[in-house]
Amino acid sequence: MQEYLKKLFTKDKDKYFKLLENDLKQQHKRFIITVNPETLMLSESNPELQKILMGNNSFVPDGIAVVKAARKMGINVAERITGIDIAEYLLKLANEKKYSIYLFGAKEEVIESLVDKIKKEYPNIKILGYSNGYVANRDQVMQDIIQKSPDICMVALGIPHQEILISQYFNQAPKGIYIGVGGSFDVLSGTKKRAPKIFIKLNLEWLYRIVTEPKRLKRFWNSNVKFMFKIKKK
Ligand code: UDP
Repeated sequence: MQEYLKKLFTKDKDKYFKLLENDLKQQHKRFIITVNPETLMLSESNPELQKILMGNNSFVPDGIAVVKAARKMGINVAERITGIDIAEYLLKLANEKKYSIYLFGAKEEVIESLVDKIKKEYPNIKILGYSNGYVANRDQVMQDIIQKSPDICMVALGIPHQEILISQYFNQAPKGIYIGVGGSFDVLSGTKKRAPKIFIKLNLEWLYRIVTEPKRLKRFWNSNVKFMFKIKKK
């Protein structure tokens, strides 16, 4: 666990955003992995995900439990940097600088309302393509992404599918920032609400998600609770 936590980006969000801005300017490639307890716990039984965590990717501390665990181990992580924060920043930047984007994931009605919203609110973004996340052939979508070579590619299929899929194609990408953003399209499209600011500030976003979607409780137990026991043991 510690070897993964050591790779986390430790500075603040704005510094991370500066890196992304620079990548896009220079056309540097980057594969962002949002690390939370679920990522780490799933990697124990998923060799493909484990390989991704061992690789030379860009790891950000997405969950508060990960931030706290890292700090306990003497790794001074400044703050949470979540997938949705990165997605929102990238949309803003792409609109300012006229970058291109490809969106893959979520239900058809969600991706369609997100695309409509981007066209209205971020009119300078070039949408090179999009697809819902329930297609029979995910590889076909990934091949289309590689061929169109967007500046930014967001994949919202949930952990670990999004990370594994990106890792299978990332080497072929000529350029671009690739990131798995989980349920972010649901929020960005306006289909679901993100936790109110006060929950985020008090590090209780996880609680909001469980209360509003009780079916998450099992996932929370298997990832966060088991993760915390594991860290305590260490
Ligand atoms: N999803 C998808 N295809 C699938 C399964 C899930 O596109 O076969 C989408 C789902 O619609 C949702 C996202 O993947 O938009 C996963 O969201 P979740 O809230 O589970 O992710 P989290 O943010 O908790 O990692």
